[in-house]
Amino acid sequence: MAESAPVQKTDDEWRELLTPEQYRVTRRHGTERAFSGEYWNCHEPGVYRCVCCGAELFHSDAKFDSGTGWPSFWQPANAEHVATQVDRGFFTVRTEVHCSQCGAHLGHVFDDGPPPTGLRYCINSASLKRAPSPT
Ligand code: FE
Repeated sequence: MAESAPVQKTDDEWRELLTPEQYRVTRRHGTERAFSGEYWNCHEPGVYRCVCCGAELFHSDAKFDSGTGWPSFWQPANAEHVATQVDRGFFTVRTEVHCSQCGAHLGHVFDDGPPPTGLRYCINSASLKRAPSPT
């Protein structure tokens, strides 16, 4: 996935830019512990950008309380910046979600979300950086 991304950095460069947790999640396909991240319980309005490259990914307008302990959205803010691929585990097949601009792993998308899309983008806080909405 990262091969075609417009934002390219070396592994060392990402390591330098990110905190260890941000690096582990975004560049090593990690998952933060539930209820541990900065945004699962955040209800402030704002735009959620990629912590690696700043691409606009999600908006608070589409955020909902999923009860999972991870920030959850029913649609991306910019569909062109959010890409998916099949993620085959040992016993499960899930749909992985990543930033199309830099390849950062964000989380997974499930089909048990609320209307109008029925989707649940289950995203790691460590992949996101919230900025208040311009007013
Ligand atoms: Fe990115």
